[in-house]
Amino acid sequence: MVKLPKVRCPGCGKFMAAVAVKVVPPANKLEDCLRRCAKCDIGATNAKSPAKVKFIFPPPKTREELPPAA
Ligand SMILES: [Zn+2]
Repeated sequence: MVKLPKVRCPGCGKFMAAVAVKVVPPANKLEDCLRRCAKCDIGATNAKSPAKVKFIFPPPKTREELPPAA
C-alpha cells in the first residue's frame, strides 16, 4: 500500500485526510485527485511527498472571483 499523507488545503487551511491506496494514479485533473477538500473542492495531486504536491482548483464560478490562470 502507498500512503499519501494529509496535506493542507490552500483554500481553507484545513487538512485533507491521508489516503492509502494500492496504486497511485497520475493526477492530471481534479477528478484524479485522491485527496480533495470537501469544502473548497480543491484537489491535491497524488504525490507522496508533500513538497511535490500540487493543487488543482475547480473551475471558478464567476470570472470576477478569480483571475484567469496566467
Ligand atoms: Zn479547503
